[in-house]
Amino acid sequence: MSKVTKQSIKSASISVRGIVQGVGFRPFVYGLAVKHSLKGWVYNTSEDVRIEVEGEAEAVEQFELELKTEAPPLAHIEAVTIEHHAPRGYKNFEIRYSQKQEGKYQLISPDVATCQACLGELLNAEDRRYRYPFTNCTNCGPRFTIIEDMPYDRPQTTMRYFQMCAQCQAEYDNPLDRRFHAQPNACPKCGPQVELVDNQGNLVTPIESGTDPIAAASQLLKEGKIVAIKGLGGFLLACDAMNDTVVNTLRRRKKRSSKPFAIMVTTVDEAKRHCYVSPEEKNLLTSPQSPIVLMMWKEDSSVSREVAPNLRFLGLMLPYTPLHHILLRDIGRPLVMTSGNLSEEPIARDNDEALRRLSGIADYFLIHNRDIYSRYDDSVAIVERGTNQLIRRARSYAPYPIRLPFEAKQVLGCGAEEKNTFCLTKDNYAFLSQHIGDMENMETLEHFDSTISLYKRLFHMEPEIIAHDLHPDYLATKYAQELCESGIRLIPVQHHHAHIASCLADNGLESPVIGVAFDGTGMGTDGNIWGGEFLVADYRNYERVGHLEYLPLPGGDAAIKSPRRTAIGYILTLLGEDALSRDLPVMREADEMEVEVIKRQIERKINSPLSSSMGRLFDAISALLGIRSEIDYEGQAAVELEMAAYSSVIARSVSDEAISANNESYPYHIEEDEGIRIVHLRDLLSALIEDLHRGISKGRISVKFHNTVAHMINEMCHLIANETGISQVALSGGVFQNRLLLKKTVSLLEGSGFQVFTHRQIPCNDGGISLGQAVIANFSI
Ligand SMILES: [Zn+2]
Ligand SMILES: [Zn+2]
Repeated sequence: MSKVTKQSIKSASISVRGIVQGVGFRPFVYGLAVKHSLKGWVYNTSEDVRIEVEGEAEAVEQFELELKTEAPPLAHIEAVTIEHHAPRGYKNFEIRYSQKQEGKYQLISPDVATCQACLGELLNAEDRRYRYPFTNCTNCGPRFTIIEDMPYDRPQTTMRYFQMCAQCQAEYDNPLDRRFHAQPNACPKCGPQVELVDNQGNLVTPIESGTDPIAAASQLLKEGKIVAIKGLGGFLLACDAMNDTVVNTLRRRKKRSSKPFAIMVTTVDEAKRHCYVSPEEKNLLTSPQSPIVLMMWKEDSSVSREVAPNLRFLGLMLPYTPLHHILLRDIGRPLVMTSGNLSEEPIARDNDEALRRLSGIADYFLIHNRDIYSRYDDSVAIVERGTNQLIRRARSYAPYPIRLPFEAKQVLGCGAEEKNTFCLTKDNYAFLSQHIGDMENMETLEHFDSTISLYKRLFHMEPEIIAHDLHPDYLATKYAQELCESGIRLIPVQHHHAHIASCLADNGLESPVIGVAFDGTGMGTDGNIWGGEFLVADYRNYERVGHLEYLPLPGGDAAIKSPRRTAIGYILTLLGEDALSRDLPVMREADEMEVEVIKRQIERKINSPLSSSMGRLFDAISALLGIRSEIDYEGQAAVELEMAAYSSVIARSVSDEAISANNESYPYHIEEDEGIRIVHLRDLLSALIEDLHRGISKGRISVKFHNTVAHMINEMCHLIANETGISQVALSGGVFQNRLLLKKTVSLLEGSGFQVFTHRQIPCNDGGISLGQAVIANFSI
C-alpha cells in the first residue's frame, strides 16, 4: 500500500445552491465522501449546503465531479462554488447540525408524489408500513405544504408534534438509509393517523372498532357517497366517477353545474382504458410531479360523461400520496377528485374548516392529524407538440422559481383577477406562487395575502416595487394600492404586455418579439377592453401594432355570461338587423324583447363597452352556431366550439395530419389606421352565416373558423415582420389553451419561417400575468 504523502492531500470547501434540502442531498454527500475515503463534514444553512472534504487529490476531484453528475433525482443544483485550501486534518466524515443565517434563503422543494420504493412498502403485507398512509422518504412526500420556516428541519414543519419511535429514529440517523434525515419520516406507531367522520364530525371508525378508516371510506364511495379527503395541500372531494347520480349530486352541492372535474385512477393501464395516452403524457402522469393531465377521452370509457359535460378532453391523474394509493386500490374504480371548496373559494385546509365549509357537500370526511401549512391545489398540464405545458401551476411545481435571464430587483407582481397568482422576483429568480384562485371573494384575498407573507418570509424578500394591472376594480389592484407605503413604488402594467413578457420570461428571452396576446378581457390604455392584440414588445416597452376591430359588448359583464348577447351585438353592428334572421340557431333562444334591448344599448352606447377581444369572438361564434349561448364557467363557449371542430375532423386523436388536412377558411380584411393594423370581421361573419344557411355542419364551420384565426395571426405577423425585421413570435393569453388553434397557428408560423415561443413552465392564461408584471416592473425604473 502506498503511503499518502502530504503533497497529494487536497482539501476543498464547497457550497451547493439550488433545491438541495429535503431531497436526500446530505446522505448522498455522505455516501460520496465515504466512497472516496474523504474526511470532513456537510451541513445545511439557510442558503446552501456547505461541504468540506479532504483526502487524496484525485479522490477530491472525483468527488467534485460526481457531486454534480450523480446528485439525487429530486435535487436541482443551481450553482456549485469550490475553494481549495490547506488541509485541516479531519478524522472522519460527519453530518453536522443545520445553521440558520439572517437574511439568507434557499430554494424549497415542492411536494413530491410517492416513490416506487415507498409504494412497494405500502403494498407489502409483511412491511411495518403496510397500508400506512403517511409513508415517505427523502425521495418523496410532503415538503412545501408542511414547511413553516427554513432551514428545512422537522421542528420547523407541521411534523414537529410527532416524536419518532426508536425504529424511525434509527432510519433517520442512519446515513445509509433511504430515510436518513427525511424530516416527515413516520410509521403507524409514531406518526399521523387518519380518521373517518360523518359531516357532523362524529367518529365513524373508532380505533376500538378495529375498522380501517380508508377501507370504510372506500365502501362508502362504492355506495355512492361523497367523501372529503384531506390530502397534501387541502381537501379533495371524491366520488365514484362512473356513477352519474353522485357526480350530479356533487355538482349541485358544489354549485358547479358543468365545469369539468378531474378523475384519479390507480395505474397507467387504467388511464389507457379511459384516455388516449401518448408516451409523453405517460411520462408526465408518472413523473414525481404527477399533475392532472388533460388527454383525449375515449368514446368507450366507463367514466360518466357528467364528469366533463360536452368535452372530449378528460383531466386525469394518478395517486400521488400513499392514502390515494390505498384508497384507489381498495375501491378499484376511478374516482372524481376535485378541490374541496364551494365554487370559487380557496381549497379547504384544516379539519375544522373543512367540516364547517364542506359539510353541505360531503357526506363523510377522511381526515388526519398532520397539519397542512400551505394550501396547494392540484396542478393541471397538457402535452402539446411533445412539450409539457402547465395550465394551472401549483402542487409539485411551486414554489420552485422560474430562472430569469437578468439580475432582478425585489418586485411583487400582484396579478390580475381570474386564476390569480402573485410573483416575487429576486436575484435570478421569479418566485411565482402556486395557483391562488379567482380574486372575487374575501377568502381568496386572505389566502393571497397570507401566501405573499409566507413567500416573503421563506425567501427573505421585502419588495421595493409593486406591479399591478391597469384595471382599477380588480381586488389585486386594490391590494397593491393599499400596500403602497412611502418608499414603495407602484407600477401599473398593461395586461397584454404582461402576457407577452410572461412568455418571454418563460422562455428565457430578452430581445423584442412580435407578441400575439389573445384572451377574454384586459383593460387597455384607451379605456376599452383589449384581448385580440398584436404587440411588438420586450420587458421595457411595448407598441400596440394591431388588433381586432372594436365591437360593442351589449350589457358589458352580462355579455360575457351570455355569449348570445355578444353574437347578436356583433351581427347588428357588422351586418345590420336584416342579417338577424329567425332561422339562425342563436335566435332560437332570443326573444324580441332581448333583441330590442341589445339594439338600444348599442345604438345609444349604453353599457356597451368596446372590445377587441379574441375570447369574445370565439364566444360569439359559439353562440351563433347554437353551441353555447349561456355559460357556467369562464371559457365554456370557446371550449365547446373547439370540441365541435374535433367531432368534424378527428375521431381518435388530434393528430397534426388531421389538422393540416383541412385548410378551408373564411375571408377577413386588414386595414391600417394611423399605423395600427385593424382586423375587420364583417366578411368573416357574413360568410360564416352563409355557411349556416347552406346547412354546413357546425363541426366543419368550427374548423374553418379556427383556420381563419390562425391565418389571421400568420398574415399579421408577416406584415409586422416586414416592417420591424423581427422573426420571433410569442403566443400568450388564455385563448391559446385552445389546442386546435395553437397547433394550427404554430404550424403556419413555423411554415412561414418564424421562430415561435409558447408557454411551458407557466400558464398562458392569467395565472402567468403576475410574472409578466414583475419582470416589466424590473425594467421600469
Ligand atoms: Zn419514497
Ligand atoms: Zn415510527
